[in-house]
Amino acid sequence: MSGLDSAKILQNLREIRLPKGANDIVSEGLVSGVTVKDGTVGFVLDIGKTVLTREEAEALRATCETRVRAIEGVKQAMAVLTAPRTGSVRVEAKSAPKGGVQPPSPTPLAGVKRIIAVGSGKGGVGKSTVASNLAVALAKLGFKTGLVDADIHGPSVAKMMGISGEPEVKDNRMVPLERHGVKCMSMGLLLKENVPVVWRGPMVTKALHQLMRGAHWDNLDYLIIDLPPGTGDIHISIAQNFVIDGIVMVTTPQEVALLDVKKALSMFEKLRIPTLGIIENMSYFSDANGQKQYLFGQGGGKRLAKEFHVDLLGEIAIDPAVSESGDSGTPIAAKDGNAAALSFKAIAKTLADTVRA
Ligand code: ADP
Repeated sequence: MSGLDSAKILQNLREIRLPKGANDIVSEGLVSGVTVKDGTVGFVLDIGKTVLTREEAEALRATCETRVRAIEGVKQAMAVLTAPRTGSVRVEAKSAPKGGVQPPSPTPLAGVKRIIAVGSGKGGVGKSTVASNLAVALAKLGFKTGLVDADIHGPSVAKMMGISGEPEVKDNRMVPLERHGVKCMSMGLLLKENVPVVWRGPMVTKALHQLMRGAHWDNLDYLIIDLPPGTGDIHISIAQNFVIDGIVMVTTPQEVALLDVKKALSMFEKLRIPTLGIIENMSYFSDANGQKQYLFGQGGGKRLAKEFHVDLLGEIAIDPAVSESGDSGTPIAAKDGNAAALSFKAIAKTLADTVRA
């Protein structure tokens, strides 16, 4: 069969990522010795480069073989495991943060099963809108969901979720305010309105940790964190102190936003937080005939996702109803029948399938 060669096999294996790993198995250097002969494919999976358990290694082998068998022209696929190990699941960090100081170890957050962070390269791309809508959509799917506004410089979650007032304190911990089925905590709730926030470095971080660890989360399946835009101390501090199951990056089709998002993606890769995928917000506009008009160019999110070997989780339309809903304190995902609401629900479902609670 023409076109069936080792490059094609590697290209397909790049779609497979390690459990809890940020990279695909080819980039992690696990695959070697690919041979192709008369439709029979063989390759080596060097499990010694990971700390997978035997069961996980076997599951990975099965996934790889199934993926390769699905390639046109392949009759048989065989993966050989080398140096299988028993023990913990964690994959070693490839690069330690610069500076030479041992960072703190991330620890789980009491009462929370999974944490998904929402980031962006720059401000104004709809990150908070996406974070709020994903939280509401997860709650509508039946998951116990929480939302933390870590975008301390411009907290907008409280407004978007329609919450106000200070959280009640019980047994020395704050009780998150619940709206649209989501338990919310925001710096915005702890500040008097119109007070300018000039938080600096360690103070910001300390405040955020108090917000996260000082709340009664009460057995959440998912906690969504609305990160500040870009890259900075808060991101590093969150990654070093909390076990983050994955990051969702929000971008818009404009090239400048794509450049910023690349920088942020590289940072999360270094921090060893898996990128769950990219959401392209404000992708297109539905015209009167229901035709999609890609005003800012088409396919930017897709190209970026391909470059970083991550999924494009979805494209959200530009729709005045999205911003009106946010402004009025009821995210569009709380409503039925809107195209953007359906996109948010589909993305929430994909996330729940990927990061199982
Ligand atoms: P960020 O958190 O990235 O700074 P926001 O979520 O605050 O961005 O969104 C910026 C503005 O864009 C808000 O006014 C919001 O209502 C609007 N917006 C976000 N997504 C959409 C969309 N898909 N369609 C229309 N307006 C949107």
